[in-house]
Amino acid sequence: MLEKQNWKSKLAHSFKNIKDLYLYLGWPLSDNINDVASKYPIFIPLSLATKIKEEGPEGILAKEFLPSHLESDRDFNSFGLIDPIGDKSYLKAPQLIHRYYSRALFTPTSICPVHCRYCFRKNELSATEDIFQNDFEKTLQYLKDHAEISEVIFTGGDPLTLSNEKIEFYLNSFEKIKSIKHIRFHTRYPIILPERIDTGFIEMMSRFSEIFKTMSIAIHSNHLNEFDESNSNVIKLLATTNVQLLGQTVLIRGINDSENALIELFEKFIELKIRPYYLHHPDRVHGAMHFYLPIARGRLIYQGLRQKLPGWAIPQYVIDIPEGHGKTPAYNPEDYQYSGKLISKDGRIVDLKEPDLFV
Ligand SMILES: *Cc1c(COP(=O)(O)O)cnc(C)c1O
Ligand code: SF4
Repeated sequence: MLEKQNWKSKLAHSFKNIKDLYLYLGWPLSDNINDVASKYPIFIPLSLATKIKEEGPEGILAKEFLPSHLESDRDFNSFGLIDPIGDKSYLKAPQLIHRYYSRALFTPTSICPVHCRYCFRKNELSATEDIFQNDFEKTLQYLKDHAEISEVIFTGGDPLTLSNEKIEFYLNSFEKIKSIKHIRFHTRYPIILPERIDTGFIEMMSRFSEIFKTMSIAIHSNHLNEFDESNSNVIKLLATTNVQLLGQTVLIRGINDSENALIELFEKFIELKIRPYYLHHPDRVHGAMHFYLPIARGRLIYQGLRQKLPGWAIPQYVIDIPEGHGKTPAYNPEDYQYSGKLISKDGRIVDLKEPDLFV
């Protein structure tokens, strides 16, 4: 009980006010950063703020989580999209995005344990709260009517913002639908607020891993500096269950766009029994274009990984084609240069120009 109150109160007492945060950091706050933070609010738990402070204003964590004047840069933003993924048109039932045949995304909350500055959802208002009961009935009905959906992927926001009781309620409901065999969670909690992975959560995951064919947790992390003793220990605990741990990484200019940074990260994943799953080419996000890099650069870096790591330690390098075309491989064994065309998941050739700023 104490444990539970602990993570919830830590979440509730996160920094949401930029002045308070900079006061805590002891760093000067410019008018410009103040303005950026009023457009794209901060959200930083105290434990993370401590790590940011230790690393300093030029550190990796500061770049990932503190506002930058580049977020309001007009040249950059002229290439940024408000809805870079185009998921919306695949919203088939309340909180349910069904774009790929056998998997559906379930988004029961829009709250995250931190606001990442590069986030592809940064232009959406984090307003949607818990789903209403009668809406959820419609979601269940859609899943029953679409027996081709064998995996439900909890995403968000961050689904671990929900209480264990709420997650259990959803899992019990999905268990009753025979066609649902796999469950996956996409989360940043194990890294950002490891207290969230309490004994109740671990027990619940273990239990449901006997019920569903697979239970997976895809852990989002971009840099070795995000790891410390407490989050490593929690992940080691998770790894003792039958839950499959996957690693999800965004390739980000200025953060991990080098062979070494990625090798260190994936070696850490492996040490913690996290299987590297996806390396995402950055999306074209309005307010985050300073994190973008050309596909040709990404391909070069990725080729370097293939030299130095075994196949099982290398994630798939993928890009989400804007306007709802979906994820597709970003690596091309024929050429580093980017031709301006990609094959979408449904097999069509899609034209996609690289932003002029970077070619
Ligand atoms: C990424 C994604 C999935 C999951 O795809 P996998 O390739 O199975 O990881 C499902 N639906 C949507 C809309 C996605 O973007
Ligand atoms: S955890 Fe994911 S969804 Fe949440 S702010 Fe970070 S990148 Fe965005």
